[in-house]
Amino acid sequence: MSNKIIIAIDGTSSTGKSSLAKRISKKLNYLYIDSGAMYRALTYYAIQKNFISKNHFDKTKLINDIPNIYIDFKNNPINNNFEVHLNGISYEKNIRSLDVSNLVSEIATVNELRQQMVRVQHTLGLNKGVIMDGRDIGTVVFPKAELKFFLEATMELRAKRRFDELFLNDKNITYSEVLKNIKLRDNQDANRKHSPLKKAEDALLINTDNLTLDELELKLLSYINPIITKNL
Ligand code: C5P
Repeated sequence: MSNKIIIAIDGTSSTGKSSLAKRISKKLNYLYIDSGAMYRALTYYAIQKNFISKNHFDKTKLINDIPNIYIDFKNNPINNNFEVHLNGISYEKNIRSLDVSNLVSEIATVNELRQQMVRVQHTLGLNKGVIMDGRDIGTVVFPKAELKFFLEATMELRAKRRFDELFLNDKNITYSEVLKNIKLRDNQDANRKHSPLKKAEDALLINTDNLTLDELELKLLSYINPIITKNL
């Protein structure tokens, strides 16, 4: 019997989900799936097609175009990360831009798109050995995941983390626009009708405010390792 499990990590933006999930996946030799990147890739697509901008959103056109959108993941041999591909191409840098961040939560409200993404996510989880982060992984995508974490941190700290990350590539970015984006997404993600961001009842709540990534990794592994060993 395989000892592989599914680990779900949910929480608001910039709580450290993806950094932690990436580290742990490498340690366990698990597949790391960044489900947020899928919604970001969809948003990038919708922007390119002029389906969405700051002032308009043609939801019907986007929904009708779903058969032309293909989202999957491929390994990037340079950093050994499993990266999202949109119709066969990786747009890793574009999907992290603030333009995409400002529209992604609107795109993520569309249930037809969510259903499509959940299908891809289920396929990726078929053989277990997966650590997936997002907003609805423990509640909707893998409600039976063997282990679920819900990460939280104060908004200012999250905005600071995000600002530091984005500033590396864009020296024009300001802390206040990043903070505004985080507030906007928190609100949209928690209050949408379909698959809103919320802690699964059986998820472990982890506050990441005063812990380093090393400390957090140890903490999460202290929950993960006994379950993996028990499954042997
Ligand atoms: O994780 P990240 O911040 O990159 O996610 C970007 C956005 O994608 C979130 O703010 C949310 O609107 C959406 N998302 C979602 N469900 C997921 C993952 C992300 O709705 N499982």
